[in-house]
Amino acid sequence: MLSLQALKRSARYELIRAGLEGTALALRAGLPLADAQRGVIFALHHVDPESTASWVPNAWLSITPTFLEEAIQVTREEGLIPITLEELPERLADPADTRRYVCFTLDDGYRDNARFAAPVFRRQAIPYTVFLTSGFVERSRSIWWKTAQELVMKSSSVDLSPWGSDERVHLESRADRVGLFDRLSNAVSDAEDEDAAVARLDTLARAHGIDPLAITERLTMDAGALAELAEDPLASFGAHTLTHANLRKVSPQRLQHEMMHSAGKVRDYVGAAPATFAYPYGYPSAVGAREIAAAREAGFAAAVTTEPGLLSQASRDAQTALPRVSLNGFYQRKRYVRALLSGLPFRLRRR
Ligand SMILES: [Zn+2]
Repeated sequence: MLSLQALKRSARYELIRAGLEGTALALRAGLPLADAQRGVIFALHHVDPESTASWVPNAWLSITPTFLEEAIQVTREEGLIPITLEELPERLADPADTRRYVCFTLDDGYRDNARFAAPVFRRQAIPYTVFLTSGFVERSRSIWWKTAQELVMKSSSVDLSPWGSDERVHLESRADRVGLFDRLSNAVSDAEDEDAAVARLDTLARAHGIDPLAITERLTMDAGALAELAEDPLASFGAHTLTHANLRKVSPQRLQHEMMHSAGKVRDYVGAAPATFAYPYGYPSAVGAREIAAAREAGFAAAVTTEPGLLSQASRDAQTALPRVSLNGFYQRKRYVRALLSGLPFRLRRR
């Protein structure tokens, strides 16, 4: 049996896929593109030629280098101009400028960005911005969604007592694994104190022979790897906090510290102060008016959410609340990228 949540999730993906297919068909029939749009900021996480099965937790975070190259080709065919995210605010602010731009951004600083994405960007002469969480760079913070993934994929049964429950969960089917992942993941996402929830998950993982910080080490770039990537003239870096915490849940002091201090850390790693910021998680329950104002006050020229949408004239007045379109592991088709660029899926969504 699939868990209800897994079922709902797969229904939602099917609905999105159907929407993208419908849009692709409408475009082929000659439906005009959205007017007054100013382009798009793409959000990526992993770029890796080895794709995992779609049911595996976090599979949506990973796209192949081939699909990245195809997505770039689509933006060229659509006439979008590639620029750095740093340049975008100025271009959007110019009322005489009606051109459409594309920015590529990658969150969390994964090692595969340097290994597999950078060569594609180099071949295509596309600038890109990598958002860094200093807790990952310095191996002081676990990546909880990866910890949970490893726990449910590698264990045959999980004793939840270190997590404060007297249950033992047997993991035999895919649904068992997805079910426990969803449960752990909801517990962290819903927790008022995210630090405590992450620590609790770390304890649970360690009790099952998994070292959460070794996962951070295996997956993300350290200061040395970042200094090396910073040699790439197409690479820019932005801040993505110290701990990857949901900023809506932290105190005003910590909010400021997470923004300012992580910006200082990025400067130390790559030798240039970051002008851009990405909110962890990026959805409305993790980014509100207070956070958007704080990013502006912290002096970031641009800050990005994960609220799906294209850039518009309105983005000019909301430079620290810019929408992004996710290049998602579940929808790796050129026709889907074309559909997203039409803006139609987002207009349908708002209805
Ligand atoms: Zn992130």
